[in-house]
Amino acid sequence: MSHILQTYGRFPVTLVRGEGTRVWDDAGKEYLDFCSGIAVCALGHSPPVLVEAISRQAATLIHCCNLYHIPQQEELARRIVEDLVKIPGKVFFSNSGAESNDGLIKTARRFGHARPAADGSPRYEILSFTQSFHGRTLGGISATGQDKVKEGFDPLPGGFRHLPFNDLDALAAAISPQTVAILLEPVQGEGGVNVATAEFLRGIRELCTQHDLLLYFDEVQTGFGRCGDPMAWKEIAPEIEPDGISWAKGLGGGFPIGAFWLADREIDAGKALSSLMNPGSHGTTYGGSPLACAAALAVLGEISDRRLDANVRERAAQVRETITSWNHPLVTGVRGLGLLLGVGLNTSLMTVPEGKLPSIHLSAELLQNGLLAPPAGPSTLRLLPPLNVSADEITAALKILKNTLDSLLPTA
Ligand SMILES: *Cc1c(COP(=O)(O)O)cnc(C)c1O
Repeated sequence: MSHILQTYGRFPVTLVRGEGTRVWDDAGKEYLDFCSGIAVCALGHSPPVLVEAISRQAATLIHCCNLYHIPQQEELARRIVEDLVKIPGKVFFSNSGAESNDGLIKTARRFGHARPAADGSPRYEILSFTQSFHGRTLGGISATGQDKVKEGFDPLPGGFRHLPFNDLDALAAAISPQTVAILLEPVQGEGGVNVATAEFLRGIRELCTQHDLLLYFDEVQTGFGRCGDPMAWKEIAPEIEPDGISWAKGLGGGFPIGAFWLADREIDAGKALSSLMNPGSHGTTYGGSPLACAAALAVLGEISDRRLDANVRERAAQVRETITSWNHPLVTGVRGLGLLLGVGLNTSLMTVPEGKLPSIHLSAELLQNGLLAPPAGPSTLRLLPPLNVSADEITAALKILKNTLDSLLPTA
């Protein structure tokens, strides 16, 4: 009998060891890992640079709390702002994606007080999108555009509305005097791997400027090289300047760390957006510890030193070309950006046991055949290999995928 709260329907395997793109279960069976802990293990499992950075920092100083200065935090924030975002701003370090989004949501409420509606009442409403995913805190599930994460948890914090993704007209029509921010993933991950179009992002930026709204990108899954550029929105429309960004997942390569960034942009004479979050406004006990920041610095260093953005683009092209060349009856197409890829499934043709979701059934069959790959919604399989995955590993994984898909074809 398990003493773990049963919030997950887990796949029937126990993983005990990992190295690079491979993991092993407790019976010694080897798997190719194209789940990467849900886009977390950016450098694969136990990469030497990360092991070394964590070991060295753990032997020096693990935690000291945010009442004191932490040089690793300063260095990590400097790298993120100056080398990657490249727009003046400030960073707050948290421990997860949901917490990072909570920080953005709190900032939007402060902004709504600083820049109220015409009648003087604070603006508060945040617009996000159907099929989005923004985390499991009360703020996160309120922002999320999927009913299944909210069931039975009402009353939820109010002030969120969800619009169809990539529909600029619907969004423009939905903006009200209370609206204060627009929050979106450049590529919806959990919701089925849906990429925002450049026109959509540019249109949103214009609407935000026109209506004095904050533009927030949730880059928790897309960020730090998963999609190619360390900032996924720059792969789509690089000229856009957001007001806030949230991250987590890949940043620590498996060590828990999240972050959010706020622009220094002036919102009133002499007053920066980032200054709305002033002393006392927000906090965290664990966030941005020397150990977490040392891990993230090692990850970001490896991604830029090894030019993993180039590998991401090449391996993504390899996946797309290979899967497209199959013309497989069970595949409707490959979506995504970089190595955040979704394989659309022709579920009407697929042989699936009664009561099982097609994508989950496929994931379970792949597992049997030695490949880890998570579902994204009922009819999409996600491929999230590490950013340093090799061409040979892609070839091997896609061979397993092809054979498994063949086995799910109707027999008649
Ligand atoms: C995973 C995810 C989150 C939540 O992150 P946690 O670390 O699980 O809290 C939020 N937004 C997006 C886009 C995600 O993919």
